[in-house]
Amino acid sequence: MSSVIPLLTEFEKERIGERQPLPERYLGLTDAVMDARIAAARATLGSRLVILGHHYQRDEVIKFADYTGDSFRLASQIARRPEADYIVFCGVHFMAESADVLAAPHQQVILPDLAAGCSMADMAAPDQLDVCWEELAQMGGGPEGSGRAGIVPVTYINSAASIKAFVGEHGGTVCTSSNTAAALRWAFGRGDKVLFLPDQHLGRNTAYRIGIPLSDMVVWDPDEICGGLDPDQVARARVILWKGHCSVHTRFTVQQIAAVRRQHPGIRVIVHPEVPWDVVQAADDSGSTEHIIRTVSNSPEGSVWAVGTEVHLVNRLAAALAPRRTVISLDRFGCLCSTMFRVSPNHLLWVLEGLVEGRVHNRIVVPDEQKHWTKVALDRMLSIQ
Ligand code: SF4
Repeated sequence: MSSVIPLLTEFEKERIGERQPLPERYLGLTDAVMDARIAAARATLGSRLVILGHHYQRDEVIKFADYTGDSFRLASQIARRPEADYIVFCGVHFMAESADVLAAPHQQVILPDLAAGCSMADMAAPDQLDVCWEELAQMGGGPEGSGRAGIVPVTYINSAASIKAFVGEHGGTVCTSSNTAAALRWAFGRGDKVLFLPDQHLGRNTAYRIGIPLSDMVVWDPDEICGGLDPDQVARARVILWKGHCSVHTRFTVQQIAAVRRQHPGIRVIVHPEVPWDVVQAADDSGSTEHIIRTVSNSPEGSVWAVGTEVHLVNRLAAALAPRRTVISLDRFGCLCSTMFRVSPNHLLWVLEGLVEGRVHNRIVVPDEQKHWTKVALDRMLSIQ
């Protein structure tokens, strides 16, 4: 199984804060002991606890989730469990931040391992976005109503709360891979350009799918002056794509698709839209994790699928649908998101037993000054289907 181990950036360290190491007494426990103790802690906490599990979590963790899903689905669950005091989010940092913003004031959100970040989310820092916005204005693209071409910012949910707050305050929205096309249409109803961040691939793939040619898109490199673009390029562009990517999904290639087609004649290939554009073009279908699960599950019996997304989802789908359908990973080694993998049953047990004892470990709190506009942006996301 191939994995990507992103290094912690300064921006990420600042956001994550002090990471409390897992106490030694939680190391070296057998699976049976952990299972029994996690089950006991859950039973004690009862309806005061809800555990959310992202599709990319490992099996030993996701089996304890009350709800599983992608970021969008999990974010939507929060309002449905107002009686829960504790929301334990088995996912990564930006998801727990969004949960904290959407949660009621009495609810506390906990991330079992604070080092569970997302390398893509860390590719857009708030100071870089401030500079980008200012430079775009100087280059002739300004906010709607400024007399210049209206730019509407849209950020993928895989971004820091500070980025979401910026977007909310500047008339934009958050999107997930389930509603990116709708979010782009929404944005084009409000301005004539979209600044899409942080994932250039999701932005490019979705904009192309709704009919925007590649020639109308440019890439903004936050490490270059004026994003590496000149005013004419910005003036001509309809979509300005932030130069960010997912280190897991960019490992899928056109060559892998050609190889599985050779090995399994008649195979169908479905990929997540965080993969590069040429991979989406070579595949038979693309969409969010929910779309992938639905499409493969509803395919005719006997179908054979190669799936281009995180390996835990692929393996679970394969197990759930066998023997009626065959599901393999598009990458024969399986692409693992190593930051999602950081959440272990040991960490889950530690935070749950802490709650039973009245101690809250690893609480995620979005600063008050970011909460309002982050919530505005997330509420827009939830309203755009
Ligand atoms: S799969 Fe990619 S985008 Fe998703 S959490 Fe992992 S690094 Fe981030």
